[in-house]
Amino acid sequence: MNIIFIAPPAAGKGTYSSLLKTKYNFTHISAGDVLREVVNTGTPLGEEVNKIMKRGEMINDEIICKLIESKLTQIDLSKPFMLDGFPRKINQALELEKILNNLKINVDKVIFINITKETGLKRILGRITCPVCKRIYNLENPELTPKNIGVCDDCSTELTGRKDDTKEAYETRYDIYMNETLPLIEYYKGHDKLVEIDGSGTVEEVFENIENILGVKND
Ligand code: AMP
Repeated sequence: MNIIFIAPPAAGKGTYSSLLKTKYNFTHISAGDVLREVVNTGTPLGEEVNKIMKRGEMINDEIICKLIESKLTQIDLSKPFMLDGFPRKINQALELEKILNNLKINVDKVIFINITKETGLKRILGRITCPVCKRIYNLENPELTPKNIGVCDDCSTELTGRKDDTKEAYETRYDIYMNETLPLIEYYKGHDKLVEIDGSGTVEEVFENIENILGVKND
């Protein structure tokens, strides 16, 4: 069962991907994390990617498609995987089809996690993440608050805010989502793969919904 998560910014793609990884051993491929790894290299490409991400804009298709293709060729394809944040537009979805065809694999379901723009903004402003293990926390949500403020529960690293979690970058990211990412919903409906869920509930409720959709629940 390979899946794609599509959602507006801060709908919880990263949170639910981490839960699927921990509980059901899915391989998590996050486009944002892959790009943040490029930023951390400190190369001229990393600096360029950093500037674009800070503004909340999209990285050019050729770069992100190559990075995702490279990840997909490195993982164990006998295990299920989830793509979080890729594809984010029709051109990327078409490119993904080619990559998957070459690797002789399929995506089985596309899960669209829907939240309102206002909910997303509130979450963005409360979000902090662990730069080392990538765990996501949210000071706006008691379910996602770290035990010791400012420190990762899992690896004790100091938590940081994302550079693109500003009100200004959120506006840009949301506009891009409306204009470029939403058309993917119709695209995947046409492929009979789309399932829409309400992302405004608690983490537990939304995750249970995802488990039911995937038919993976094992307790
Ligand atoms: P995320 O971690 O998914 O919220 O993504 C953070 C940022 O990475 C986005 O705002 C974009 O700047 C960039 N990014 C992530 N995924 C893509 C993609 N599929 N195509 C282009 N840029 C992306």
